[in-house]
Amino acid sequence: VCPTAALTEINHTDKVWEALNDPDKYVIVQTAPAIRVAIGEIFDMEPGTIATGQLVTALKRIGFNAVFDTDFGADLTIMEEASELIYRLQNNKTLPILTSCCPAWVKFIEHQFPELLEVPSTCKSPHIMFGTIVKTYYAEKNGIDPDNIVVVSVMPCIAKKAEAKRPELTKDEHNNVDIVVTTRELGLMIKEAGLDFINLPSSEYDKPLGETTGASVIFGTSGGVIEAALRTAYEWLTGDELQKVEFEQLRGDGGLRKATVQIGDKMLRIGIASGLGNARTLLEEIRDGKNQYEAIEIMACPGGCVAGGGQPYHHGNFEIVRKRQEAIYQEDKNKKIRKSHENSEIQKLYQEYLGQPFSDTAHRLLHTHFEERERI
Ligand code: SF4
Repeated sequence: VCPTAALTEINHTDKVWEALNDPDKYVIVQTAPAIRVAIGEIFDMEPGTIATGQLVTALKRIGFNAVFDTDFGADLTIMEEASELIYRLQNNKTLPILTSCCPAWVKFIEHQFPELLEVPSTCKSPHIMFGTIVKTYYAEKNGIDPDNIVVVSVMPCIAKKAEAKRPELTKDEHNNVDIVVTTRELGLMIKEAGLDFINLPSSEYDKPLGETTGASVIFGTSGGVIEAALRTAYEWLTGDELQKVEFEQLRGDGGLRKATVQIGDKMLRIGIASGLGNARTLLEEIRDGKNQYEAIEIMACPGGCVAGGGQPYHHGNFEIVRKRQEAIYQEDKNKKIRKSHENSEIQKLYQEYLGQPFSDTAHRLLHTHFEERERI
């Protein structure tokens, strides 16, 4: 917080209220995996409380026409990212593959390492994928003019506000995501609506596009995206059922971690970085030809999105971050389905609309590209 109040936090809640008050608009909200384990703190709940049910009820009472989970977009991301990993492994293409769902680190590589732009996965991030599917498949299925749909993303992240405005992510006739608010901004809206958050009953996310898996929940913590991708890649590459879905070797507190994962006769070397200083270390290794990895996950915020810049302030208390991470892993355990490719609504989306993962249609709607930007 700026001590002289010369700088104030960007607040887009007025845009959301305006959309909600417009009778011609169909306003859809999606919430990122990390929101559910942190929003309770705004209402004096213990850090790490899983408040998914109250969160959904609050959003319904605020007046959104439909309330969805970005986890669905995360499952979709895994379908495409695991396909891309396998494609690159089997066709002698550029390795390592780097996860691309963190817009802060994507911007960092565009400015600082433009010579490595063929390295990140071309997958759009989960909330952008979800917004794209809402403005196409969902709109067609429900007979709604996509121009009248407003997609609001509740994110743990300030960088997602800029990401939603990237020209290559808004290049079709419609913006994929219209408004991004942070966890803190949503907390403000819940207070403005006069809701007693702690005592709200529990509700479920809307359907279709409402089924989600444990794999998608763990996107909220450092190491989770690559673990989710490997759960799917393992089964697709080997044809065998994964007996233990947790890849414990990918978990932990360190900002720079290395692990190996055996998949059939392949030993994949995995790098995980959170914090941009650690990302720089990995990227310099790749640039200097010292890379040892097949796949790397990078998150700009130390600890991942649970500790994102839009979350309730943790004031450097990593114990709070750890409790949020534990809650994320607990939520994964609570899920009946824990692998993205077993999500039946994702399977239906491919059957009805996208064809196969990594198909031309999937590429057109779910993938993007990166550009060299001025070095700063
Ligand atoms: Fe945003 Fe931080 Fe998550 Fe990156 S790690 S997506 S900057 S909250």
